[in-house]
This record gives sequence, C-alpha cells and structure tokens, in this order.
Amino acid sequence: MNNNAWKFDTQAIRAGSLQSEFGENSEAIFLTSSYVFDSSSQAAARFAGNEPGNIYSRFTNPTVTMFQDRLAALEGGEACVATSSGMSAILATIMGLCSAGDHIVASRSIFGTTVQLFSNILKRWGLEVTFVSLTHLHEWEDATQKNTKLFFVETPSNPLTEVTDIKALSIIAHQKDIKLVVDNCFCSPALQKPLLFGADIIIHSATKYIDGQGRCLGGAVVADKKTIEPIYQFLRTAGPTMSAFNAWVFLKGLETLSIRMDAHSKNALDLASWLETQPQIDRVYYPGLASHPQHKLALSQQKTGGAIVSFEVKGGQKEAWGLIDSTRLISITANLGDVKSTITHPATTTHSRVSPEERQKAGIKDNLVRIAVGLEDIEDLKADLSSLSR
Ligand SMILES: *Cc1c(COP(=O)(O)O)cnc(C)c1O
Repeated sequence: MNNNAWKFDTQAIRAGSLQSEFGENSEAIFLTSSYVFDSSSQAAARFAGNEPGNIYSRFTNPTVTMFQDRLAALEGGEACVATSSGMSAILATIMGLCSAGDHIVASRSIFGTTVQLFSNILKRWGLEVTFVSLTHLHEWEDATQKNTKLFFVETPSNPLTEVTDIKALSIIAHQKDIKLVVDNCFCSPALQKPLLFGADIIIHSATKYIDGQGRCLGGAVVADKKTIEPIYQFLRTAGPTMSAFNAWVFLKGLETLSIRMDAHSKNALDLASWLETQPQIDRVYYPGLASHPQHKLALSQQKTGGAIVSFEVKGGQKEAWGLIDSTRLISITANLGDVKSTITHPATTTHSRVSPEERQKAGIKDNLVRIAVGLEDIEDLKADLSSLSR
C-alpha cells in the first residue's frame, strides 16, 4: 500500500503495508526461510526472474519488503534494501558500486567503525579512500581522482555536530559523475531528507532512531532503482540481509519516528541551552543553538538540531569522566538513538581507535562529553548532571 500524495506521518504508518489473507491490521512477521511453489514450472519461472514472488528469505521476505518500501517512501527514494546492520549497509553499497582500483572520498568526521572499514579493510581489496574535511568543500574537489566513484559523508557529524552543505557537495560530485552517499542516521528522514538536496544514496543504521528503543541491529540503503540493483545483488548473494523479526521491530519504529524525533529535539535544545549557562562548561556543540557556527545552514536542511549534544567541560579527561560517573539516571553507553538518554566520552570510546593526532585534528578533545538526549523528563536529566552546577 502506498500513496505518494500522503504526508510524512501517514507514510510512516501506512506506506508499504501488506495484508495477508487473515486481514491483520498490524503488519505480520513472516518467520520463514523459504517459500512454497505451486509447481516445478512456477519454481523455474521464479528462479528465472520471469515471475515476481518470494523464493528464499536471503533474497526477499514480505516483512522486510514492507520495511524497505516504507523507508523508501519516507526518504523520498525509489528503492530500498535492508541489511543486518548499519555497517553492512555501508559495505554492501561499496561492494555493489565499486571495484578494485576505485577511489572514495570520505569525510574525516564519520562513524569510528566506518573509518576502520575504509582505512584497514577496503585497502586490502584494492580500494583507496581519501579523508577530507567535512566543511571545507574545496578539499573534496581537490581529492577527486579519475577513478573516484563515491563521496561519503555524515551530517551532522559525530560527536561535534558539524554540518555539511549537502546541496553544494552534490554539485561538486555530479560534475565528475560521482555519487554522493549520505549516512542519515543522526537525523533520520523525520528531520532531514538528503535526496531532496541532491544526495544519491542514503545509508541508515536502523539500530539507532528507526528502532528508537535500543533493541535490534539493522541497516538500510535508499537510492534510485538502478543504483540499488547491484547493491541488492551483493546482498542476496553474500547474505548480510535483515531478519524478518528485526524488520518488524523497525516497521513499528517508523510509525512513531517523527513524534519521537520532535520530542528528542525539544529535549536536546532545552538541555543544550541549559548547558551553555553552566559555569563548568567551556563549549556546547548543538546545531539548534544560535551559537553553533553553522546554525543557519543546519536549519536550512534539517527540521531541528537533532538529538545529539556534545560539550567540553572545564579541565580534561578526569573532569569529563568525573561528570559521566556522577550520573545515576543517564546510561553510560556509546549507543545512541534510544528513548533512554546515553552519555559517553568519545576520546576513550567511539574514537579510541583514532590516533591522538587524528583526534586532535578532528577537534575531539579529552574534555569532550556526548549526550544522546532521550525522552525522559528534561528536569530529571538536568538534575542528573547537577554536579556541573556545583
Ligand atoms: C551506529 C552507526 C553506524 C553503524 O551502524 P550499526 O547498526 O551499528 O552497524 C553507522 N553510521 C552511524 C552514523 C552510526 O551512528
């Protein structure tokens, strides 16, 4: 079921929904590895691709298909493939679209594991990645080579919430026939739809806001049909596909995505504004604050500042750890995208495998703390950080 005229919140609840012969109102979980054919000739027709239909759940599964169709509708994309995690969405995109000898330009400020994938693993397979600044777009132009196939960016970035001008970057990419990949995990389509600004491919870690309650791992790639096809071929052959159960959890997650993201954003803006007034804080990073250097750009492509707030406490690692360890309510975990607020020290967790020099270059100091603001009452969150006001 789909109707392109529907508004976002209707799509989030209705798009992609399929009803079985039992007439269920809530989407069903199809826990089956394979599908039965009417006859040998039907089996042959399915395998030959002459008749649409399910064959095996590594290829397609109705619950997964519903999730894919719904997410594609929300991002404004033609097609979507779901994966076992956010990392396998990134890997599948590269395996589908690049070959040995190709080159990728990526922002230095991307998810730590993505950096590891790009710099350690892809290299062994003959793919070269150049890392450049998220905000200085001339560096992307300068890094481009004849064999550059993809630009890869996250906006806003983790943990410093720097913002890339998606439109401007897509223009640079398209002049050279390069595809722009945006990891849209931090905003989700409820806050930002990069395809509208010229991006070609959207990556998701569904593990984060699409689930929204910290239960399942999953990922997705959204793009036009032609771009998705080789990515799908890689997935069905190599197998890092999404399970039907996880797809069902994510389908339910999409239904409340936009009200959750609005509520996360409201709490985050409130907390960021409060942090700015605390005497023991040096600096707050949040795109929704007027003090953010790219506040205007951020709000020209995002609906809100999002849910991630980072800040530097006066002092160094000792003071940052002291604050984190003084909390009783906020969970000390590096995950994000949960209704439960989480707090982490990026320099010794998410970015611990980045060398101290690279960390310094990226501006991730030892006194930096990141909070993924959840949906608890804001007054309780402030009270949990009260060691700051002492
Ligand atoms: C978590 C995350 C990923 C990886 O997703 P997994 O589901 O953990 O594999 C990729 N990109 C960003 C921005 C993330 O936050």
